[in-house]
Amino acid sequence: MSFSTRYDLLPVFSVLAPAMLSANFKSEITWFFTGCLAALVIGTIVGWPASTLVLFMAAYVVWVLYRLESIVSWLRSGAKAGHAPFSHWLCDEMVELIHREKKYSRKQKNRYRKSLAQFNSLAANLPDAIIVMDSDFVIRWCNPASGAMLNIHPERDLGQRIDNLIRNPEFGEFLSSDNDASEVELPGPVASDRVLAIRKVLKDNRMTVLIAADITQRVKVREMRKAFVADVSHELRTPLTVIRGYLEMLQEDDTIEPPVMDAVNELTAQSDRMRGIVDDLLVLSKLEANLLGEREGEIVNVAAMIRSMIGPLKKEASRHRFELNLDDSLAVLGSEREIYSACNNLLTNAIKYTGDGTIVSVSWQLDDNTGSALYEVSDNGPGIEARHLSRLSERFYRVDAGRSRQQGGTGLGLAIVKHAIQRHGGYLDIKSHPGSGSQFTAAFPANRVQLMSKVANQ
Ligand code: ADP
Repeated sequence: MSFSTRYDLLPVFSVLAPAMLSANFKSEITWFFTGCLAALVIGTIVGWPASTLVLFMAAYVVWVLYRLESIVSWLRSGAKAGHAPFSHWLCDEMVELIHREKKYSRKQKNRYRKSLAQFNSLAANLPDAIIVMDSDFVIRWCNPASGAMLNIHPERDLGQRIDNLIRNPEFGEFLSSDNDASEVELPGPVASDRVLAIRKVLKDNRMTVLIAADITQRVKVREMRKAFVADVSHELRTPLTVIRGYLEMLQEDDTIEPPVMDAVNELTAQSDRMRGIVDDLLVLSKLEANLLGEREGEIVNVAAMIRSMIGPLKKEASRHRFELNLDDSLAVLGSEREIYSACNNLLTNAIKYTGDGTIVSVSWQLDDNTGSALYEVSDNGPGIEARHLSRLSERFYRVDAGRSRQQGGTGLGLAIVKHAIQRHGGYLDIKSHPGSGSQFTAAFPANRVQLMSKVANQ
């Protein structure tokens, strides 16, 4: 609002102001001036008008101060309704307002008390343990389930650091990691036959909230599924080998008529496909086992490995163009078989799912920011729609099932890649846009990175 506009509004305020004054203020002012007038009249009669007026004003000020003082001492003594000081006009209104405010805050307090009671009974009946900590991981609050599951008791352990109570290196790592989406599975500190999954549901620079759930049943089902898939795959291998053997014999039989031979050839192709699925399922069930130990594995010269793969692929995919950007000094500590499988899958996919003339770029470089080693395969092929990206590494997920089968894919390739990389403590990242190609990145963590020069000197 400009100065001139404000100036124009002044007369409006001066008219409205008396109307906005409270009735108590008006009474107070009316009685004050009436008193002044009376003092002046009496003063004139007795011959000291000015002194009588000043005396009256002083008496009025003292009276107002006395009323204020009685309100203050009433407030000091707890402002109980029954003990409110007798007062007039403005002071009376003040007492009334204090009453109203007290009533309102009492109601609010009751509401908060009720909510707190509800929250406490909810927290007490939750089957999961909840722990609230400050930024130093000192426990500030926990529910009763924390006692039963983690041996952390609300009455005993408040004020303690959680890593002093749960002494597990994996838990310590999880606690200090910045990855809020991560989850750690631990044997229960109270009953070691139970498995707990601990998650961070909130982490900022003031507090961290953990939730621990008993996932023993889920883990059992997961183990059963893994064992079942591994057993079935294993059992299917023998009959498949026998079928394949007989089919090979039939293929070599010259007496078989061409239409029957077509059927034999189709049967052979399908049994090969089935064998491929069974083999991939077996690989996957092995990969799903525990993480590799930090020092487990051999030194893998990934650059040399990629070059050895590219040679035969260049012949197979002669219409694709390959661009390599490999750091020969960079190696990783891990399982050569698993790393080979992951690298090869990404490379063959970049050929299988793209057309002739596609440029496939393969890079193996150190990420200077994180110290991790990145294996990147990108192509300028057809790309993948965003809705598929998060599901690509699920078992048997295919964007185009027909094309995948036609290319001899089992739908397990990216699941194998993901698990192989995860077993090394790394991750698989997929970026793609329809029409502008795809980029698959396998990242190996810094603690697995080795330099070939150092390896040679060892
Ligand atoms: P498969 O083992 O059948 O090859 P994958 O798990 O390796 O299956 O891949 C899953 C799906 O991801 C494939 O069906 C394919 O549609 C898609 N895909 C993988 N790589 C690429 C790529 N480079 N370009 C386009 N699509 C791809």
